[in-house]
Amino acid sequence: MAAFPPAVNRHSRFRRILSLAQKTFEKLYYIPCCAICDEAVHPPLPSPFICRDCLAGLPFRLGREEIEWQGGFPLYATFFYRDDLPKLLVSMKFSGRTDRARALAPLMAHTVRRHHLGADAIIPVPLHRRRKAERGYNQVSVLAECLSEAIDVPAVEGLLIRHHYTERQSEAHSVKERQLHLQNAFSMDPACPLSSSLQGRPVILLDDVLTTGATMMEAARPLMKAGIRVTGLVAATGKDRYQGYGEAADQW
Ligand SMILES: [Zn+2]
Repeated sequence: MAAFPPAVNRHSRFRRILSLAQKTFEKLYYIPCCAICDEAVHPPLPSPFICRDCLAGLPFRLGREEIEWQGGFPLYATFFYRDDLPKLLVSMKFSGRTDRARALAPLMAHTVRRHHLGADAIIPVPLHRRRKAERGYNQVSVLAECLSEAIDVPAVEGLLIRHHYTERQSEAHSVKERQLHLQNAFSMDPACPLSSSLQGRPVILLDDVLTTGATMMEAARPLMKAGIRVTGLVAATGKDRYQGYGEAADQW
């Protein structure tokens, strides 16, 4: 192979030195901002992107993360859906605030560790491709990528496919109505190389919010049919009693 001319070598060496200097500078002087209030965050904290004050105000479900439900597989949630959580999750979904996924994922990783949710893959509940094109991204996939980094388990995109393009669901729909609406809405892509290798293996099926549970149940159906061991995980559900970080710090 022909060697690069000396000028190019000098140039690339200079760029490498510059990039190294930049990284060192960022490490020394970069102070992360809180994804909720934009104030500077001073680690160590359970999430490197949420300041101490905002963390204390988050509605953790500590002690009540395991959800009692009729889905036929274990399900966990890190937060109640109240206080700052609706605002955080809605902006993550519709306003491109994917930094909020990066902020919440390390806290969800604590739920995974506390309950020893061993998994070989994280599978985000997919959007219909038309919905994804409209929004430009799937906020649950972004959350899955961030959780993947936090717990060192790969996030698998493309294993589940969503077939039904549904109008936005409102809280007004009953469980039965939603289930009917979502029937056979998901299937596994046989072309995905993991569809057979995950048989008998544990996975985390990830969603942002759980309301009636119908989406989680329907998304899990084809996975369970294929012999995959599903554990559900959502960022938030329920609006019960408030329990902040400050109140339950000893449980971390
Ligand atoms: Zn803050």
